[in-house]
This record gives sequence, structure tokens and C-alpha cells, in this order.
Amino acid sequence: MELFELGIKAAQDGLAKGEFSATELVKSVIDRYHAKNAEIGAYLTFDEEQALALAAANPKSVPIAIKDLINVEGQPCTCASKILKGYVSPYDATVVKNLKANGFIPCGRVNMDEFAMGSSTENSGLGVTRNPYDLARVPGGSSGGSAAAVGGNLCIAALGTDTGGSIRQPASFCNCVGIKPSYGRVSRFGVTAFASSLDQVGPMTKTVEDSAILLKALAGHDEMDGTTPHDPVPDYVKALEGASLKGVRVGLPKEYLEVAGLDPEVKRITDEAIARCEAAGAELVPVSLPHTEYAMAVYYIIAPAEASANLARFDGVRYGHRSAQAKDVYSLYTKSRAEGFGPEVKRRIIMGTYVLSSGYYDAYYGRAQKVRTLIKQDFDRVFEQVDVLLTPCAPTPAFKFAELQDPLTMYLNDLFTIPSSLAGVCAASVPAGFTKDTNLPVGVQLICGGFEEERLLKICKAFEDISK
Ligand code: GLN
Repeated sequence: MELFELGIKAAQDGLAKGEFSATELVKSVIDRYHAKNAEIGAYLTFDEEQALALAAANPKSVPIAIKDLINVEGQPCTCASKILKGYVSPYDATVVKNLKANGFIPCGRVNMDEFAMGSSTENSGLGVTRNPYDLARVPGGSSGGSAAAVGGNLCIAALGTDTGGSIRQPASFCNCVGIKPSYGRVSRFGVTAFASSLDQVGPMTKTVEDSAILLKALAGHDEMDGTTPHDPVPDYVKALEGASLKGVRVGLPKEYLEVAGLDPEVKRITDEAIARCEAAGAELVPVSLPHTEYAMAVYYIIAPAEASANLARFDGVRYGHRSAQAKDVYSLYTKSRAEGFGPEVKRRIIMGTYVLSSGYYDAYYGRAQKVRTLIKQDFDRVFEQVDVLLTPCAPTPAFKFAELQDPLTMYLNDLFTIPSSLAGVCAASVPAGFTKDTNLPVGVQLICGGFEEERLLKICKAFEDISK
């Protein structure tokens, strides 16, 4: 086995036993990057010198690939947008500080949909990322670079972010484990904001145990992010001990399982996953989350509204691209933004500005917030009956480049991941099988209540054990 194939736990064990050094581990990842990145395009940039310097200074640490919207001091942070091309971050995000304090080093910047808006990484303004399982297909998005790097063994593990599914859907497409923590579990300080009431950072890894290790390092209160409570961070790794599905009440929501348009292979793999859970002693409980059908509409009001406000700061004055055509302040703003943002980002800014405009605010944004509360109450109610929900992660396996032409079909990819994001609960994608004819990975989604990551990870581990 090559060192770049290792996951976090295996790498930590090898480092502890002195079988290899962090420098050798990072060199192996760099060699793999040189051999494969031209084909897969997982990374946008890889500062080899900085990675090797960090490895030399921290001989027991494990390299982690970083999604290009998380700030690492001295590295580019472009959010895969032309508007931030050339921007170099002056500081570390709290998650990066946490990584460094826990035996990890940030290595390489991985691709994404521009400002995390998309489901295929095709919206990147800076590069193409291919699915390592089939180069004619997308890796998913928006954390497509993270997923392709993990799934294609171009890294040991990666950080992604998830606003409406951006960790879970690409994890499903690239055979990774991905965790979207509960809202507030992980600090967003230093993470470029997309939709602030939804964004979360989370691990994308080769095993559930690796996700537990990484989440433990990331999670916790941060005085720089007021949404992170003081709740202690449980020992997520210890929680995996003796993981079992015996007696676990697995909720099967009809709104996710009886859906027209669900790919037949995704349905088969999900049904088989449910049967495996039952055989392992889980109690299957049919449940209903009646407001699910409104989630997509609510998300595409709230997320663009918040994005339109968050992205106002990219105006050619403080960061990144400044139009050479600008003649005055007004044209500096408009031309810099017109030249710098890609089409999907512009679409979201326009939608967001519209739903927030006076006269429409109550009709759109205000109502969406109310329906969001109803969606959250669906989850509160259902978690009185069950421990976890099991659903498909995405309606299809990885699709081909340019296959989803109109924005609405692309948005439908997030059908199953958006409701739990709106509710702020924690959710994971865990590999569940491969499609028959095309041999593409498919994950299932497991959802637990808010701040129930311990329970979620334990169930994910038990599920992983019966799915190998
Ligand atoms: N695909 C969804 C969107 O385009 C979710 C993105 C995300 O979670 N960052 O908004």
C-alpha cells in the first residue's frame, strides 16, 4: 500500500510507530498529486514548499486537503471564483487553527463550485474536477474537489462545507464518508460565507472512524463565531466503540423513499441498505416529514437572500479582482462584479436581492422563514420516535458533464439534503454500494437530531461495518 492511500487513523498509527515521517507522508501525497491531478483536477493549487515545511516542523502530523473557501494563512483563498483570483489569506480560519493544534496540517487547495453554489463543481470559475470513478462524470458539488481528492486517493482526508448538501452529495458520488455537523457545532470564522444560517464545515474521509477523528479536532466553541455554543465536544472516536444497530430505531421517511424520479439503482442500493440494517437488529419505523415538499423552495429563497448580502463585500475595493475599465466608484463596483462573478453566482445574487427587496420581503423571505420553522418541527417530532433517519443521499449517482443543463434540474439534486440543512440537524453520507451497469458509488444519508453527532457517528460506523 502506498502512503497516499492511507486514511487518517492508519496514517496516525504509522506515524506513531515511526514507520514513516510526516515528510514522507506529505511527499507521497505530492507525488500522487503530480501523477493524477492533471487528470482529476481535484486541487486548484498545492503549495508544496509550505506543505513540506509544515511537515518538517510537525513530524507526527497528517495532511488534510482544504476546500478553497477556508482561509489558511499565506495560501490563496479564491472560492474558485475569478473575483478572488490572486487573493492570499492573511490568517487561519478557526478550523485550520484547530487542525494544527490537533496534529493535522493544511495541504493543498481543492476545487469547488464558485462560492459553493452548485452540485457538480461545474460552476468553478478556475478549473474542471472529474469523478475518479468515471472521468466522464462530475464529482458532485459543491465540495467536488474534496470528494475527488478523497475518493481518488489524492489526499488522506479533506475538509468540505455544506450549506444544502455540499458535503454529502459529493461524498455519495465519490465513495467517501461525509459529515455535515449540526449548525453551530463547528466554527465558521475564516470560512467565506455563502448562507450564514446554513453553512457548516465538516470532514470528508475514507472511513467513519476518520470522520470521527477529524470532527473531534474541528468542533467546539469559538469566541469568533457566536453560533457555536459552549457545549462540550464529546469524544466522537470513543463513541464508536461497540457500535451496533441492534435496537436502533431507524426512521424511513416516505417523502424520501417513495419519490418519482428516484434512479432505480439508487433505490435498489437504498432498499438493500435498509434490509441490511434490519438484519443487523435495527427496528424499521415508517415515518413522515410532511413539509418536505416545501424545503427546496424555502432553501432557494433563504440561501440566495443571505448570499446576496454576504457577497456584497466583493466589490473591487478590498479583495481580489478590480476592473481595469472602472471610471468611478459606481463603475468600479459594477464592472468588477460583472467581470468577476460567474453566471450561477450572479443568478443567486439577483434572486436574493429580489426576495429581500422592499415590497417582496414579507411575501418571500418572511414566509420562507416561517415554513422553515415548520420543517424544523417535522424533524423535532420525528426524533421523538426514532434515533436516526435513513434516506437516499442524492436522487441519482454521479451524472455526466453538461448532463444537467438547466439550473432547476441541478437544484433538484439537493432534494434529500436540503431539509436537514434547514433544520440545522446533523447528517452524514456513508458509502452503501455500487450501481450494477455503471459501477458508480452510491451513498445513503443518515440523519440525527441537533448536536447528536455521537449517536450519528456510532450508527454510521455500524452501517459501514455491515456494508463492506
Ligand atoms: N447544491 C446546493 C446549492 O447549490 C448546495 C450547495 C452547498 O451546500 N454549498 O446551493
